[in-house]
Amino acid sequence: MASRREFLQKAGLSTLAISLPLANSFGKTNEIKNDQVLRVAIMGLGSYGTRVAEAMKDCKRAKLVGVISGTRSKVEAWQQKYGIPAKNCYNYENFDQIKDNPDIDAVYVITPNSLHKPYSIRVAKAGKHVICEKPMALNAVEGKEMVDACKAAGVHLLIGYRMHFEAKTLEVVKRQREGAFGKTLFFQGLSGFSIGDPTQWRLNRELAGGGSMMDIGIYSVNGSRYMLDEEPIWVTAQEVKTDPVKFKEGVDETITFQMGFPSGAVASCLSTYSLNNLDKFFLNGTKGFAEMQPSTGYGPIKAWTNQGPIEAEHITHQTTQMDEMAAIILDGKKPIIPVDGEEGLKDMVIVDAIYKAAKIGEKVMLG
Ligand code: NAD
Repeated sequence: MASRREFLQKAGLSTLAISLPLANSFGKTNEIKNDQVLRVAIMGLGSYGTRVAEAMKDCKRAKLVGVISGTRSKVEAWQQKYGIPAKNCYNYENFDQIKDNPDIDAVYVITPNSLHKPYSIRVAKAGKHVICEKPMALNAVEGKEMVDACKAAGVHLLIGYRMHFEAKTLEVVKRQREGAFGKTLFFQGLSGFSIGDPTQWRLNRELAGGGSMMDIGIYSVNGSRYMLDEEPIWVTAQEVKTDPVKFKEGVDETITFQMGFPSGAVASCLSTYSLNNLDKFFLNGTKGFAEMQPSTGYGPIKAWTNQGPIEAEHITHQTTQMDEMAAIILDGKKPIIPVDGEEGLKDMVIVDAIYKAAKIGEKVMLG
């Protein structure tokens, strides 16, 4: 049985300043202090890792304390910029040693998609909580392996679904749940951008696991589920390619897809790497509608309904996300829309089905 100290370390509670008795999400009652801070190491110091690091400067409950990178010069620059001690710096060969570092609670995996699974599992085996970027893995089989590995290690697995904490998104979700739009029977999700450099990892099947669906279309998949508050039971999909040189076999440029839900609701979505400013959610019910555009970009998000605009302060998404994830891990807080591994896995199952439906040209049943 794990000692109390080991348990506290696993739960990210290595400081023994204690005040409130709370049940954490593993069902154990533990005493924690809700001003405690989640100490995070970022793995993958690329463009999104940098965005997260900058946003974390304003966090109240999460702090950047470590890095994992294969590039020595980047590590040195981040040490300087964020005051990271040498003992919290790792590379991809030695980061399993993080298990012996009591000053890091969680690792945020922000690498190309194909590395999410192997690196997340290594982090879990090192006894640290895992925060992993979307898409959580290359497919549902991998996603399930990650969920199982984190469960076995007794650590949290959270997926970087920043929109699940965004104020206007949450207001639309609240109104939908309260029935303000009546019975919601239609969702439209449009997700895309025009991708540049043909040599980047996003256009490499081995590293990305696919194309636009994996990277941006997943926002419409995920959005349809939280906007309709249901899980789809079937999908159909069609793939279109205008540039087969840039978008090679297995790298989708554009996919249109449809999903059917148990209530009779349907979703109609577009995922593409060929159109800029494509970022829109539309939800229609028997009594009203909600529209968001932009709906999943870095913001400010704009949202309105048949009753008028939705107003909320814009806070950098990644700042809110990391503070809320700290509360999930440290306090056992339950988010309004889940961000755990099971949530990520639900999207991967649907993405797998969309690829299959596009390939065979037939409706694919889910569940
Ligand atoms: P990026 O190319 O800018 O950064 C990737 C980092 O991984 C680089 O520092 C690179 O050096 C490192 N890396 C480690 N091993 C590598 C390898 N074998 N090949 C290539 N690079 C390797 O990419 P990014 O835009 O930062 O995306 C990283 C992850 O973050 C992706 O999974 C992406 O889907 C996700 N992302 C999420 C959001 C969001 O809003 N949630 C936004 C952008 C990216």
